[in-house]
Amino acid sequence: MANLTALRDHNAAAVLGRIRAAEETSRVELAAATGLTAQAVSKIVQRLAAEGLITAAGQGPSTGGKPRTLLRLVPQSRWVVGAQLHRDAATLVLVDLGGGVAASRLLPLAPGATPSRTLDQLAAAVGELLADRPREQVLGVGLACPGPLDHTTGVLHQVTGRPGWDGVALRDELAARLDLPPGAGVVVDKDTTAGVLSQPGSADRAFVYLDDGLGAGLALGGTVQRGARTNAGEFGHQVLDLAGPRCACGSHGCLEALCAAALAVGDGERAAELLGVGVANLVRLLDLDEVVLGGRTVLADPERYRGTVAAVLRQRLPDPDWQRVEVSVARAGELAVALGAAGLVLGPVFGEGGGL
Ligand SMILES: [Zn+2]
Repeated sequence: MANLTALRDHNAAAVLGRIRAAEETSRVELAAATGLTAQAVSKIVQRLAAEGLITAAGQGPSTGGKPRTLLRLVPQSRWVVGAQLHRDAATLVLVDLGGGVAASRLLPLAPGATPSRTLDQLAAAVGELLADRPREQVLGVGLACPGPLDHTTGVLHQVTGRPGWDGVALRDELAARLDLPPGAGVVVDKDTTAGVLSQPGSADRAFVYLDDGLGAGLALGGTVQRGARTNAGEFGHQVLDLAGPRCACGSHGCLEALCAAALAVGDGERAAELLGVGVANLVRLLDLDEVVLGGRTVLADPERYRGTVAAVLRQRLPDPDWQRVEVSVARAGELAVALGAAGLVLGPVFGEGGGL
């Protein structure tokens, strides 16, 4: 972030990340934790303090020499907007440097609105959320939406059922509508990837998202997995029944189509069981130990989905006691994906690639 001169190098990001993780820490501890020299840490701390990102938090216990000054993050020194684009609405959150949600907003979108009109509305809502914050304190905007898309360019591909959105340069089109300071920008990623970034958890975990569609965000070995074309985690199009109903993707019997058919007749329990079968397949394929469920369909009946998916996992895993999988519902609820989108911008500030 060029507007954060103190953060131009990854050593400064590592120091800031360490201060955030420790809540309060000293220069001596920072040097030990980062492997930097005491002199390098002192210089970085001086720059971070001059930028207003950190401050002294009193004196720590002396270890014989002079008392150590403790340092802490100043959460309200920088701001990020995270946004999730649904087909019929956008969810936005204003997040501070510490990851705290300062405000949130649900923006209804006209069904079938053109990309241009939708982006105008989205940009206006982002502008309103940032209206009271000094422009130079804005780090950027993270935007999450359904794939397929290319997260490196922020360009959408052929989104099922939305032909007008094919090839839209979402990142650049939104950035052009915003008055962001130099160095701040827009980052675009899939909603499921943002979801897996929305809360810390196991190194090997999935965020399973049942909403307009069904997908999964994946973290393996502590790294978010996007695949070769930002297309990993197309979890909803695993075929469970070759003779099943036709799916929007063109196949028959995809998990997404089977869940949709069950929900169409009001059979939530059947949809939850089917989701459990899909999650069991995913766990057997990837050896996950944590699954977080999100999306509006899940949140409308969270205890049913959590309980049924956990029960199906116990039935279908060969040794459920040895291969324990924690199943939970996203703690941030309907804000989870927007919060994860903010994390796409915040992660690199703390030296975390891809927000992890
Ligand atoms: Zn399909």
